[in-house]
Parts: sequence; structure tokens; C-alpha cells
Amino acid sequence: MHDLTDKVTLVTGAASGIGREIARAYARAGARVVVADINEDAALATAQAMIAEGGQAMGIAMDVSDEAQVDAGFASIASAWGPVDVLVSNAGVQVISPLVDFAFADWKRMLAIHLDGAFLTTRAAMRQMIPTGRGGSIILMGSAHSHVASKFKAPYVTAKHGLLGLARTVAKEGAEHAIRANVICPGFVRTPLVEKQIPEQAKELGITEEEVIRNVMLKDTVDGEFTTVKDIADVALFLAAFGSNALTGQSITVSHGWYMS
Ligand code: NAD
Repeated sequence: MHDLTDKVTLVTGAASGIGREIARAYARAGARVVVADINEDAALATAQAMIAEGGQAMGIAMDVSDEAQVDAGFASIASAWGPVDVLVSNAGVQVISPLVDFAFADWKRMLAIHLDGAFLTTRAAMRQMIPTGRGGSIILMGSAHSHVASKFKAPYVTAKHGLLGLARTVAKEGAEHAIRANVICPGFVRTPLVEKQIPEQAKELGITEEEVIRNVMLKDTVDGEFTTVKDIADVALFLAAFGSNALTGQSITVSHGWYMS
């Protein structure tokens, strides 16, 4: 069920956190894995570490919000390894601020990375998948914030909700080509993206970091636990290897019950 032998997979934002764990899980399942990240040194180092563990990996620099870089990256993968079979559009950042103070430049940067990035990589992947006739799996990294809102995260919540619409549209347009599209919606996972916002939220809310974790981040979970990178990689592996259009256009929330659909 979870065999990805020789599938060409591309994970964006794969030099850190959730993306890196997904890339490693795909390599362990036999896939050829492209580690794409805006941080080129970290992408190369991550791919090198995966090769040292016996995997097939390649690191490339890619800013997902840049059309030319995305298209050039996909072209270089196709000439090295052939068309992409699995895309995980995962790259993301977080900027926290009350809406009334949100800089327009930060709003635009957030939407560019999360929404333009998902569109550009999805388009490039579909352009490669369709001519093969083999189909493929497109996985967008949403969030519990694809379904619920939190204070101070207006562009993040907006973008993550938007990914549901993109996945549903891709599910419809991709169906005749056996291309599936789904969204994974993690709860809080202790990656650099989250470590950075714990002191930021504490300052914004005037509470301690411990209170941010207990009373903000994990308040609505069923057990007060963080989700882990492994939890998300397990779901990404399942979605990549799933064999039919039966599972498409869905979002799967992995959040210790924070959001229940
Ligand atoms: P992270 O900071 O550990 O990793 C993000 C990676 O994305 C970094 O390697 C960074 O260099 C890369 N990146 C940033 N901008 C980029 C760009 N323009 N082009 C290419 N790469 C870029 O963060 P993470 O927590 O692993 O987050 C990964 C994804 O998971 C994001 O989409 C995030 O919104 C989502 N997510 C995270 C959590 C969480 O709690 N950590 C929860 C829900 C959803």
C-alpha cells in the first residue's frame, strides 16, 4: 500500500520541519525525492543526508512564489528523472499581527507563498502528469486553519482556507487524467515555524509562553498534545500511495481533535 518505488516525488519547503519528514518518509518508501526549498544550502544538505541514509534524493533551490523558478525547477527534474508523480506543496511561513496593524506587504507575501506557490507548483505538476497518462497525487499542506480561524493570522487563515478550493478544483479537472488532489490539515507541530511564534504570541497576548502552548495552541485538542512531523508524514505517505480517484478533493485534519469535521 505504501510502496513508492521509483516514483518521482517533489516536496516544497522540504529543508525543514514537516516537509523534511515527508521527504524522508517518501525516500524510505523507495521514491526518488526532490527536496525543493528557497534555502538552497539547506535543500542540498537535506538531500545529502537522505542519500547517506540510502535514499534517492536531489536538492534544488526553488522560491515557490516565483513562476520562472518553479517552471525551471520542474523542467530540470523532468530532464534528470522524468515527470513528477507526486507533488507535496508544503512550503510556508507565518507572520503574526492584529489585522489592523498588518502591513500590506506582509499580507501579499503570505498569499504569494501559500496560494501562488500552491497554484504554480500544481500547474507545473499537472503539465507533467497529464501527458504520461499515469496520473498522480497532488497534496497541499493546509492547516487546522483551513477550517477554523485564530486571532492575528488573517492572511494565513485566508490562504489555508483557499487551498481547499484549489484542491477541489484540481480534483475535478484532474479526474479524467487520474490526478488526485487532497489537503492535509495539521494541528500545531513543533517545527521552527511554531517555535518562532510562541514568544511572539506571548508578547501579543500578554501571557507566558507556557500559557500560549496550553491555553492557545493546544486548548481545543482532546488530549493537550502536539501533532508530530511523523503523524503528518504518515498521512502524506498514505495519500501519495493511494491508488484511485476514490480519495480526492478531501481535507484530512490531523490535529488531536482540535478540529473535527
Ligand atoms: P518550517 O519553517 O519548519 O519549514 C518551512 C520550509 O519552507 C523552510 O525550509 C523554508 O525555507 C521553506 N520556505 C519558506 N518560504 C519558501 C518559498 N517561498 N519557497 C520555497 N520554500 C520556502 O515550517 P513547517 O512547520 O514545517 O511548515 C510546513 C508547512 O506546514 C507550511 O505550509 C505550514 O503552514 C504548514 N503547517 C504547519 C503547522 C505547524 O504547526 N508547524 C501546522 C499546520 C500547517
